[in-house]
Amino acid sequence: MSKSTPLAAKLTNLTDHLLDLVYPQNLYCLCCEDTMEQSRIHGICDNCAKKINWLDHDPFRAALDEFAFDKVMSCCVYGFYPRKIMYGLKLHNRTYIAKNIGLLMAEKVRLEGGSFTAMVPVPSSPAKLKKRGYNQAELLAACAAKELGLPLWKDALEKTRETASLRLSTGQERRSILEGAFSVPESACAKVRGADILLVDDVVTTGSTADACAIALKDAGAKSVSVLCFASTARAFSEYEAEQEDQSCQRPAN
Ligand SMILES: [Zn+2]
Repeated sequence: MSKSTPLAAKLTNLTDHLLDLVYPQNLYCLCCEDTMEQSRIHGICDNCAKKINWLDHDPFRAALDEFAFDKVMSCCVYGFYPRKIMYGLKLHNRTYIAKNIGLLMAEKVRLEGGSFTAMVPVPSSPAKLKKRGYNQAELLAACAAKELGLPLWKDALEKTRETASLRLSTGQERRSILEGAFSVPESACAKVRGADILLVDDVVTTGSTADACAIALKDAGAKSVSVLCFASTARAFSEYEAEQEDQSCQRPAN
């Protein structure tokens, strides 16, 4: 095994430091880009923070039976403001965003509790990785894992084939597109067996990608797979809300 050299570590620190100089942390809001009070720790100004729909429950709670993962921890509903932040990270190369959002996600895990063996980012396809140059899920997972002192297993999952765009597909279509698209490489099987995995993605919409990853991890013997994301869709949220509504509207039987 090759040791990471002190020089490599120094360079990483130096790069971090330079980025902090270029984009002074917490000086500009990640969302509206207005200047903000530096005492705000997660880079989101009070105005934007108020407009984000922060979640205090599992958005998939009402539908967990349909999925291979055991729970979903999501900081907020995927609305206008979280979308803006994630577009910055995914489409505009603003990778420094991962630092603040990764810390928020780590805080979410602390609030929810639970013990985990390691964090595993949802992998990008090789083509997407080549085009974008980085995997945003991996950047978020790296920041959150560092904050929580958890190992980051970047090699525990691989995307074995390219998949068609999922954007306009229904949940059922997504499932068949993604079937068998992820797998645990032979070299990672031993550590995955019996592990409590925290699977990390930036956004969870229908849950099909996280489900396909959880199926692969559990096939390889993972004991549990919990999903951690920054935002999840309003669809998942409103289904849960609808169910709550339903229950509260039910009249007592005569
Ligand atoms: Zn703002």
